[in-house]
Amino acid sequence: MNLSELQAAQMEQMTIKDCLPKDETEVVLHLVEEVGEVCEAIREDDREELKDEIADVLWQLNKLCWINKLDLEEVFLHKLNKNKDR
Ligand SMILES: [Mg+2]
Repeated sequence: MNLSELQAAQMEQMTIKDCLPKDETEVVLHLVEEVGEVCEAIREDDREELKDEIADVLWQLNKLCWINKLDLEEVFLHKLNKNKDR
């Protein structure tokens, strides 16, 4: 699966569970919380937890993209190309 397909699969699951994101601020707060959990996993040297928390960060990023009608893969590739020329 590429990033666009992952984003679509996540949003499909969230649609089925009737929990689509409604509030951008709430999504950003969750994203920051998950980044904090990544930090905690690193501090505790817990590799399994790190994997879960990295996935949670992507989960929240996907929600942020969805709420802003952005394709995460497109956004990332655009930035990757932009950085290439720096
Ligand atoms: Mg988490």
